[in-house]
Amino acid sequence: MIIVMGRSSSEEDLERVVGAVESAGLDVHISEGVQHTIVGCVGDVSHLNREELQVLSGVQRVVRVMHPFKLVSREFQEDDTEIDVDGVTIGGRQVTVMAGPCAVEDRQMLLETAEIVKEGGGEVLRGGAFKPRTSPYSFQGLGEEGLKILREAAERTGLKVVTEVLTPGDLELVAYYADILQIGARNMQNYSLLRAVGRADRPVLLKRGLMSSVEEWLMAAEYIASEGNRDIMLCERGIRTFSKYTRNTLDLSAVPLAQELSHLPVVVDPSHATGRWKLVAPMAKAAVAAGADGLIMEVHPRPAEAKSDGPQSLKPETFLNAMDEIAEIADTVGRGVKGG
Ligand code: PEP
Ligand code: MN
Repeated sequence: MIIVMGRSSSEEDLERVVGAVESAGLDVHISEGVQHTIVGCVGDVSHLNREELQVLSGVQRVVRVMHPFKLVSREFQEDDTEIDVDGVTIGGRQVTVMAGPCAVEDRQMLLETAEIVKEGGGEVLRGGAFKPRTSPYSFQGLGEEGLKILREAAERTGLKVVTEVLTPGDLELVAYYADILQIGARNMQNYSLLRAVGRADRPVLLKRGLMSSVEEWLMAAEYIASEGNRDIMLCERGIRTFSKYTRNTLDLSAVPLAQELSHLPVVVDPSHATGRWKLVAPMAKAAVAAGADGLIMEVHPRPAEAKSDGPQSLKPETFLNAMDEIAEIADTVGRGVKGG
């Protein structure tokens, strides 16, 4: 059960509510937001009297949440979350397109790619500076130099930047340069990292783990939300199955399912989901048709020379064509993309 205290509630109101919950033998988890203070009741909620709590001073709502994820659940918040990234909205009517290379390889290629992303109607530039590579001998990213290049490209084009943060120790640095913090699939259950980004002042793009259920994914989002950061977008990027011809299997049903269970926006990554550039546009279109709030796609000026994920990266002209087709689908389902 969750008790929502209004903005005008006082310290004494909060103490009274906490006392009532604790005297019923439950623990409380308090999360202070700008609009509300949330008192999460942890334990056997059958000992709580909802009607009695509801009438206490300062209490706005008492919500019984059946799922193990609470703050991110649709029961907790009926309306869709819309995330404002400095003028770019994720979760509104428009589908937000994020695109760029897998990794920032050098300044020239990134500036070139950023122009293409902008031309196609993308609003967010992606690119890894800290890369989670399967092999320790593969390119690990440019680190801070990569972050600086991303920022420069963003300033030149007006695009926002999404980039991965691998460890809590890198968080301050990454948050300094990035507009959106990406939690990679491999880190979806890195709870100390989730808690750290939950305390950061940046929206988070939370990728679904390689073999994670929708519930585990939402529980990961709950970790972030429980620390106070509610600006979370979920990202379906394919899960591992027995299929050998694709890198992963895109679970498109996760889009409407997550949207039913949660108020958070859902973004789809057709690049990592398939591992093959030819499948990217068809899956991007299918994702938009299924109701995705955003797309994140890999684009490289010369995929054959890419230091990572070349086979799944779109060439500039393929990206521009894909964007036209995506815009048509978005229009058909009453959404639209920027410039489309
Ligand atoms: C990426 O976006 O470059 C990436 C590594 O993705 P994922 O964490 O989904 O594998
Ligand atoms: Mn990649």
